[in-house]
Amino acid sequence: MEQYRIEPGKKFKLADFSADDLGDFDGKKQKGNEKLAENRADLVELQELLYSEHKHRLLIVLQAMDGGGKDGTIRSVFEGVNPQGVRIASFKTPTQMELDHDYLWRIHSQTPGKGEIVVFNRSQYEDVLVVRVHNLVPREVWKKRYQQINDFERQLSEEGTTILKFFLNISLEEQKQRFLERLEMPQKRWKFNPGDLAERKLWPEYMKAFEEAIQKTSTKWAPWYVVPANRNWYRNLVVSSVIVDTLKAMKMEYPNPAIDVEAFKKQLAEG
Ligand code: ATP
Ligand code: MG
Repeated sequence: MEQYRIEPGKKFKLADFSADDLGDFDGKKQKGNEKLAENRADLVELQELLYSEHKHRLLIVLQAMDGGGKDGTIRSVFEGVNPQGVRIASFKTPTQMELDHDYLWRIHSQTPGKGEIVVFNRSQYEDVLVVRVHNLVPREVWKKRYQQINDFERQLSEEGTTILKFFLNISLEEQKQRFLERLEMPQKRWKFNPGDLAERKLWPEYMKAFEEAIQKTSTKWAPWYVVPANRNWYRNLVVSSVIVDTLKAMKMEYPNPAIDVEAFKKQLAEG
């Protein structure tokens, strides 16, 4: 899955990354789903380790165009994981109070504590994406934010937070199909947001903003992964594989408190 990680400092072109790519799993959807099931089982155990060890923090950032599958990814990848150890933070249009502060204020307050996994459904990156595309702040303000975000993420990382960032990459055509499906299916219609069609018209501007954001903020301490997301099963497989591999590399162990187990067993046996 390392093929989807963006190397810091290297020239990055979004157009080089196909939303349809299936990697080694081309024609192997069943095998992909088997691997996903394995990953889920691993994640259940790794999350328990993370929680019990109470040492590491894991922050997962999800960004995508509308219909890109952020919700579906969260649902699928974290299926079966103890809800107590995973928190989802969704960042919507800022409230007046949030706007009165700097843009990282609401973000910092939602970062994970020790033993916790937090998934950002949208994030600080909205402040160099939608904000840039719609000129919500002057250019000289958002231009400075790439460096500010890198500094912020470096600080989190130095203090023990592992950061993974995923851009769920769907094509313009796939988005159209997904919007049509939302209109067609009564159980999906509530998800249709007429405003999404206006954003869709700005697709090229968004792609440019994503490209620059990913290029400038994929760092050693907080790498971006550009995930082919036209096929849900492959998207889920890529995201879960990166998370599982990252957690495995932490080499966590259950705490083994220095207690006299036999003495406590004896006490319990005595009633
Ligand atoms: P859904 O899948 O349910 O549509 P969503 O993440 O798209 O989920 P919405 O409530 O539809 O949620 O959209 C949230 C909106 O808030 C998006 O249009 C996003 O661009 C916008 N937003 C998020 N952060 C900011 C920000 N800092 N400044 C301006 N707009 C923002
Ligand atoms: Mg939306």
